[in-house]
Amino acid sequence: MESVLEDRDRVGVADAILLEDFKNVEAFCDNLHKRYMRNIIYTYIGQVLVTVNPYKDLGLYTDAAMETYRRANFYQVPPSVFAIAETAFRSMIAENEDQCILISGESGAGKTEASKQILRYVAAATLHQHEIDHVRDRLLKSNPVLEAFGNAKTNRNDNSSRFGKYMDIECNFKGDPLGGHILNYLLEKSRVVHQENGERNFHVFYQLLAGSSEEVLAKLHLTRDPADYHYLRQGNSSRLTSVDDKSEFEKVLTALKVIEFGDDEITSINNIVAAILHMGNIIFTANDEGNAIINSSPEIKHTSELLSCSESTLTAALTHRTIEARDDIVCSPLSVEQAQHCRDALAKSTYERLFNWLVERLNASLRSTDKAKKTLFGILDIYGFEIFERNGYEQFCINYCNEKLQQVFIELTLRSEQEEYRREGIVWEQVPYFDNKIICDLVEEKHKGIISVMDEECLRPGDATDLTLLAKLNAQLGKHDHFSSYETVDINDKQKKTFGNEEFRLRHYAGEVSYNIRGFLDKNNDLLYRDLKQTMTESGNPILAKVFPKKELVAKKRPVTAATQFKLSLSKLMDILMSKQPSYIRCIKPNEHKRALDFNRELVTHQVKYLGLMENLRVRRAGFAYRRNYEIFLERYKSLCPKTWPNFKGPAKDGVQHLVESLKFSADEYRMGNTKIFIRLPKTLFRTEDAYQVR
Ligand code: ATP
Ligand code: MG
Repeated sequence: MESVLEDRDRVGVADAILLEDFKNVEAFCDNLHKRYMRNIIYTYIGQVLVTVNPYKDLGLYTDAAMETYRRANFYQVPPSVFAIAETAFRSMIAENEDQCILISGESGAGKTEASKQILRYVAAATLHQHEIDHVRDRLLKSNPVLEAFGNAKTNRNDNSSRFGKYMDIECNFKGDPLGGHILNYLLEKSRVVHQENGERNFHVFYQLLAGSSEEVLAKLHLTRDPADYHYLRQGNSSRLTSVDDKSEFEKVLTALKVIEFGDDEITSINNIVAAILHMGNIIFTANDEGNAIINSSPEIKHTSELLSCSESTLTAALTHRTIEARDDIVCSPLSVEQAQHCRDALAKSTYERLFNWLVERLNASLRSTDKAKKTLFGILDIYGFEIFERNGYEQFCINYCNEKLQQVFIELTLRSEQEEYRREGIVWEQVPYFDNKIICDLVEEKHKGIISVMDEECLRPGDATDLTLLAKLNAQLGKHDHFSSYETVDINDKQKKTFGNEEFRLRHYAGEVSYNIRGFLDKNNDLLYRDLKQTMTESGNPILAKVFPKKELVAKKRPVTAATQFKLSLSKLMDILMSKQPSYIRCIKPNEHKRALDFNRELVTHQVKYLGLMENLRVRRAGFAYRRNYEIFLERYKSLCPKTWPNFKGPAKDGVQHLVESLKFSADEYRMGNTKIFIRLPKTLFRTEDAYQVR
């Protein structure tokens, strides 16, 4: 750290704690800016790592670079994701405590890239042994597979994660990886059937077309050109400049082989992906009675062949709806619009279930057979906060998720830190911060929150529509500080004309977002008609037969809505994160153009503010880098003071008092709390540790 201090004019400071004007957001951004323009993308706030996306390969992640961080002391090597990984990894082994790395930041800020480097680092941390290498390879190869199926080009990011991912690496006491487990969160399945202009469907569709052999392509009845498929051409953007779909597909196939997917499994997967493309091309027309009929015969033929189901059953299921009422079974024809809706629902549901199956299949191959006790090293990489031109149900869920993660950050770094000082009786100037709990409550509170209102409206029989939902939200939440809409804004408010009348607006911790209500009810209901489910349960494709189980047909209870399910799974995730020792990586996006060396001050300042980095810095700065229970501190260093060696009779706190006097800690360097000693700067601890080592 000393050497960095000397260079501060040139490259800024490696730890923002060292900034003189630490309360000033300009000074903070200056420092990031200065470093960024010199290709230094990492800066600390104490133990929190701040990264700014370089949008170019800086050669930071070589094996040699990785080696310089092995067993290195956090403050004696330049800031890096590897340093975060190393510190968490060492503390997992030394303290036998579960760890998790929380990576946050908006879409395109670099979360997924950071998570990959962390996984690489942990996977490479231990020696090569046959069994461990096996696990290691599988852990690493799970990434390209999940990215192919779960990532897509958006207008923010060419490789945007469209699902949330939490991965645990299970390690033995030496840190060897023994297995792993992945939890996935809400895939943005609407993308399967619709993409905004400039966006793409999930990568795998394009990869399959570009990368399959002629022979496979013929079996799947596919052409090479994405423009031939309705589900791929809506965004008018089928090519990516940054990656080559063909070579990516090869990587995916190699990864599947490493994870030991059988050829039959790969064929089943390809059949499903191809079937979805054909399904999108099925055209419905109206017969004389105005009912939907299918007259695009090759498409329905290919779809049913690839889904391994009967063509006539599928045709009937796509154009009719059977309703069982008491003893009566009524089969009614669908309109063209309804049939299209059904087709899209089937495509979305099939893809989503395939994705969930993939995650389960990866988990099965990552499952450890070793009975040894395991410590967990978790990595969270979830979709970042999003504001698009038009925001819908998906953005609502994604942004709600980011609110929850901000809560964890506040809980773990701001609130708990300050509460500890108070508990320990350390004199302390309270740092105010914005607590976004109020927004989380607005969304998720029982009986009152947006999700509850939405669920109520979904369950209401009769004429519930998106607009009746909006009216209900206005009526029940219109007075909330963080909620507004055309109806709830005062007529004299200048902002009024910025509201669409199908929108509601939420003031998120990261900014205001207007959500268009269209599609909310349908997406929240997430229903697939029984006829289609039944057709799928009869499929000869082993994956489909598994993901559309027959028992779903007899289930009487209505499935929980999509948002409630998401809320429950997020709440479980919060419990997982809170039970672990956290490390933070806060990613910042420097510009909107995916350009290198382009540092947009306004954009960065906005992110620095809403991420709570200034509060974080002030808490750290006013605070103490290290703290130890008196007993533990005394036990370790008692040999450094004649009064405490070999044993100190009396309260540990008194022993530590003798110890620090003998070590000549200056008054400013430490504080004595009720149960712990607090040490302001790491170098004081280094000095003590050095004295202990040379003793
Ligand atoms: P989303 O929320 O949309 O998933 P994200 O935060 O995961 O976004 P990434 O996919 O990690 O964003 O990053 C977007 C792109 O930025 C990457 O595809 C890569 O081109 C570039 N990038 C990110 N981090 C780095 C890095 N450390 N070095 C070089 N390029 C990077
Ligand atoms: Mg990502």
